[in-house]
Amino acid sequence: MARYTGPVCKLCRREGEKLFLKGAKCYSEKCPMVDRNFVPGQHGKGRKKTSEYGLQLRAKQKARRYYGVQEGQFHHYFEMAEKKIGVTGENLLRILESRLDNIVYRLGWANSRAEARQLVVHNHFTLNGKKVNVPSILLKAGDVIALKSASRDSVKIKDVLEANSARPVPQWLDVNKETLEAKVINLPAREDIDAPIEEQLIVEFYSK
Ligand code: SF4
Repeated sequence: MARYTGPVCKLCRREGEKLFLKGAKCYSEKCPMVDRNFVPGQHGKGRKKTSEYGLQLRAKQKARRYYGVQEGQFHHYFEMAEKKIGVTGENLLRILESRLDNIVYRLGWANSRAEARQLVVHNHFTLNGKKVNVPSILLKAGDVIALKSASRDSVKIKDVLEANSARPVPQWLDVNKETLEAKVINLPAREDIDAPIEEQLIVEFYSK
């Protein structure tokens, strides 16, 4: 599947907000948002006014970039969210949060969602005891993911686990840090989702 391969820090600068796409660098002084928090490009510093449509478009783009989802897939998720019972924007966020790559990241088993995707593709996890290598698979309450025993000795994985050991795991996930297994207790409510997303603007964007 196509994916963005350009400079990721530019995406944060475009949105005017840290999207935490690069792991440890995001928490350091090396983050470009520390001293270059303006839109990239020749006229970046001068851009100020944004129309209503512009705000809605930016909200959608920010969410796509935050979760690392391509346009077509994001629109598909929105259509799924519309068909579900409940508030469409919240349904959309819940779908995005239930992606396997996001859950691996939320568990602290990857430095970023991009790295989580890579680890999933490289077969480091099982889902309900079976092999899984599809980052976009949507998990549901009761699903159990685990780091494969063969992957636990990988130096890279050990480093990742160590680097993220202090990052809080959301309460809708039950992780055992000894066995490196985790269960989805339930999918999150809006207040459980720590994401800088204005989902109502996304709903307005697609309602035009
Ligand atoms: Fe965004 Fe992280 Fe790059 Fe900072 S270091 S601009 S938060 S991706």
